[in-house]
Amino acid sequence: MKIPFLNFGATHQPMKAEMMNAFEKVYDSNWFVLGEQVKAFESNYAEFNQVKHTVAVSNGLDALHIALKTLNIGPGDEVIVPSNTFIATVLAVSYVGATPIFVEPNMNTYNIDPSKIEAAITPKTKAIMPVHLYGQACEMKEIMQIAEKYNLKVIEDNAQAQGATYQEKVTGSFGHINGTSFYPGKNLGALGDAGGITTDDSFLFDKAKVLSNYGTRVKYVNDEIGFNMRMDECQASFLNVKLNYLPTWIKQRQEIANWYNLHLSNIEGLILPIVADHATHTYHLYVVRTDKRDELIKHLTENEIGTLIHYPIPVHLQKAYSNLGFSKGDFPIAEEIADTCLSLPIWPGMNEEQVKFVAQKIKQFFQI
Ligand SMILES: *Cc1c(COP(=O)(O)O)cnc(C)c1O
Repeated sequence: MKIPFLNFGATHQPMKAEMMNAFEKVYDSNWFVLGEQVKAFESNYAEFNQVKHTVAVSNGLDALHIALKTLNIGPGDEVIVPSNTFIATVLAVSYVGATPIFVEPNMNTYNIDPSKIEAAITPKTKAIMPVHLYGQACEMKEIMQIAEKYNLKVIEDNAQAQGATYQEKVTGSFGHINGTSFYPGKNLGALGDAGGITTDDSFLFDKAKVLSNYGTRVKYVNDEIGFNMRMDECQASFLNVKLNYLPTWIKQRQEIANWYNLHLSNIEGLILPIVADHATHTYHLYVVRTDKRDELIKHLTENEIGTLIHYPIPVHLQKAYSNLGFSKGDFPIAEEIADTCLSLPIWPGMNEEQVKFVAQKIKQFFQI
């Protein structure tokens, strides 16, 4: 049995007619930027994410960039980020000229450890950017309390966790202004690049919307040095269709994770995902850890099972960030995760037989 890391066909084939119909509507309207589809998606996504406002933008990185810009964060400011995130979180901080300050994650959940945040706060700190990594919600109550105590802004990076909750409140609705991604491989993926900003604050919403569209409220009148970071009508039309399926897809991902947990339980040397109290996990990725990670990849590849590493090199050790002056050993938890983590195949529609097959090959590797 051949098991790819992910299978877009399984998701897209059954909804092909609906998607073609959505495209045809845009095609026939001859209106491709800032039209009805984007307007509808902004309203639909705000409802899904339980916030007052959404700005539909070009991608997740741009969403985070605009969010920081909206809060006037810039040169001389420090922004706290987890030491084990996808590079986009950190790039957004660099784009506005601020300095990223890395804080180590909790070794069980892989999310930023709230108990380590206060030690990283200085008079220059302006914001905290928690990342709901792999699909699990961060401990947002604790993070918001710290932010309030020190008068900091919070920008959630919700690219991987749309629909996850902490104490029953959805991710992307805690922070002052938050970013998410609709990159095709994300839990809600466009057919190309797209992203979104979520906020309850009408002032920040207006500013973000204006920044994403050349800094203009009235055509050819520019109030600020803005960007062209708009979502296009085609992507919005696809996302309007796919958003209806997202709750079902999240349930399917959670069911697949439960099957993995069942069939991979009690393997010595293999660590399964752990979900924190009060948090839910939407399993954008199902990530296990083992000291024998590279040998396990080889074994699974030989058995035609696709896997990926999220992420093999922590940001502080990337060449792009050599100017920060970090070296190996500076963020040992992030490094340990990078050296041992492995993402197993998961996609909505993956069945229990396929999960069992992956589990069987993993057990074979561990000689169980
Ligand atoms: C995907 C991702 C982003 C960036 O999203 P793009 O749409 O690819 O720009 C940002 N942060 C995290 C954690 C991501 O996984």
